[in-house]
Amino acid sequence: MILLVISSIICLHAYEIDVNTFSNYLDVQNRHLHLEWLLNMDKKYINASSSYSFQVVGRSINKISLDIYKLNIYSTYLQNGILLPHTIDSPYADSDQGQRLNIQLDRTYYRGEYIELSIKYSIDSRSRSISFMTKEQTSTKTMPYLFSQCEDANCRALAPLQDTPAIKQTYTATIIYKDTEAQDVFMSADESKDQFKILNKPLDEANFNWKYKYFIQNVPIPSYLIAIVAGNIQKVPTSAGIRTFLVSEPDKIAAYTEELKEMEQFLQAIEQYIGPYTWGTYTLVIQPPSFPIGGMENPLLTFANPSIMTGTGSGLAVTIHEMAHSWFGNTITCVNWANMWINEGFTVFLERKASLIHYKIPDDIKLNAIIGNTSMYQDMLGYGLDSNFSSLHPDTTGLNPDDSFSEIPYEKGYQFLTYLESIVGEVDFQNMLRAYLAQYKYQSIDQKEFQNFLLRYLYEQGVDDYSTKRYKILENWNKWVYSPGLPPVFLDFSTNKLTQALDYSNAYITADGKQPPNWQDYKDFLHSQKQVFLEDLFKKAESKLLKLNVVNQIDKDLKLTEENDYELKFRWFRAILTVGDKSRFTQVADFLGSVGRGKMVYPVYRALNQLDHDFAVQTFRSHEAFYHPIARNNIINILGLKDSFIQ
Ligand SMILES: [Zn+2]
Repeated sequence: MILLVISSIICLHAYEIDVNTFSNYLDVQNRHLHLEWLLNMDKKYINASSSYSFQVVGRSINKISLDIYKLNIYSTYLQNGILLPHTIDSPYADSDQGQRLNIQLDRTYYRGEYIELSIKYSIDSRSRSISFMTKEQTSTKTMPYLFSQCEDANCRALAPLQDTPAIKQTYTATIIYKDTEAQDVFMSADESKDQFKILNKPLDEANFNWKYKYFIQNVPIPSYLIAIVAGNIQKVPTSAGIRTFLVSEPDKIAAYTEELKEMEQFLQAIEQYIGPYTWGTYTLVIQPPSFPIGGMENPLLTFANPSIMTGTGSGLAVTIHEMAHSWFGNTITCVNWANMWINEGFTVFLERKASLIHYKIPDDIKLNAIIGNTSMYQDMLGYGLDSNFSSLHPDTTGLNPDDSFSEIPYEKGYQFLTYLESIVGEVDFQNMLRAYLAQYKYQSIDQKEFQNFLLRYLYEQGVDDYSTKRYKILENWNKWVYSPGLPPVFLDFSTNKLTQALDYSNAYITADGKQPPNWQDYKDFLHSQKQVFLEDLFKKAESKLLKLNVVNQIDKDLKLTEENDYELKFRWFRAILTVGDKSRFTQVADFLGSVGRGKMVYPVYRALNQLDHDFAVQTFRSHEAFYHPIARNNIINILGLKDSFIQ
């Protein structure tokens, strides 16, 4: 018993620390969180209280420090009623990391003791996690709308928390709302049959019809997976759904359900590779267009941007990706944001394995890896090829980890795992991943622990040529993880479909403003081939090979300016703006006001800013209220407006 305790403590401290939390999480850890939120959606305000069950894991403590970001803290107290004094400080002045809430305890607490405390606070429209939308900003325009986005370190804008992926806790919640302000509310948790004690009843209880909804998440999760959505929304099963559901505003629900009818099969394809789905049901929320990312894997409640709904199913890779997070990210989690590839690289790897099982198009997997590699390289160029943000281990000390958010943990992580698979062998690698999940279920780990597990697994399984494989695995490991820039080993994803897409863009360049003979090939391209073609046009625009007369001919033939598939449309606009095309500014501005997904708007803002800074700023100002705070902040950075926007 003593030996066990010692080894678990050694194990915990052997992991990398999280530099992006101010909490004293190595000494005390929250085991359960209860939230009670009274939503004032019209007034963009939440009256809140949070209750905790902290366990001391260090030798002793007399204070608890938590992360907060622009929360109004009113009181901190033990659940037996004793008020506790608190202070707020900012260890990094002028930092996006937020502030530290220090709660002075009534006495010294020792290892193993529990501390039950509560905090009364409020959230307002300054929150960088919650997007409060007016009814005019929604599709049905009948009720206001509210949604959260916590990854990476934004949960501190929802509640005082140990906002680090290293700490996992169960949570419950009571959400109180007016029936005139929301049709329904969902969280990243099951609906609870039990009702929880209400701490703060609405003051104007008699004047409105208040609804109460109760949630419970029994699986320990990191704080960044807490999520809420409220508004004029409905939940329906997808047509083939035994386990799968859709939430959206009612006007779009029929079209979305039709496009998502294969959700159950997606889940089964993932299970075929990695093993059973253990979370129960799976619900996808199609958010309003200002949702800042493609998808967010909140357990039991994935959020997605409506740009994934193209009408043709071409955007559904995002759905498979978010489902795959149920295993990698939500079951095994990175211990800090420097190890984000432990979430994202593994998830992309599983996503592509499942896509191959479901769609059976090997060329598509290779092309997606090439598209991913191109996006990754562009992000690396943005940071600088020698910046540690271009590595699989970015240092975000003193920063908001969102600053290092890029395609790199996704695609370099994917390539690293593909490389390891090529050494280990496909079957052994698949079995290893299943064993890895069983070993680290509900834990947070770092890349070194994965390396230890991989080598130990191969040794214990007695695989052929163990020592050669071990040598090859270790040979480049540190370069893969710590070296900035392109991976140390080149992986060849080339296919005939790639050549065909590149030949197609060359044919347009050669035709020099006329229609090339093979112009109709495009309509039979794989969706990934179309993306490769558009990526190649952008490259040609950068190297001045693409000219305006060719742009006009392509648009005449392929109608890309009117394209409804935003995955294609943003690449088209980025390419033509890079050429210097100002004739489609109206359509570009409309596009930038119709979607808030960072992957799509940031590259277009970059290209627009280079071509015409004033027009880029003017466009941003006219759509500023539409964007989620995370996207708004990033666009401000892209346009170089930081100084004029400090609040
Ligand atoms: Zn992901």
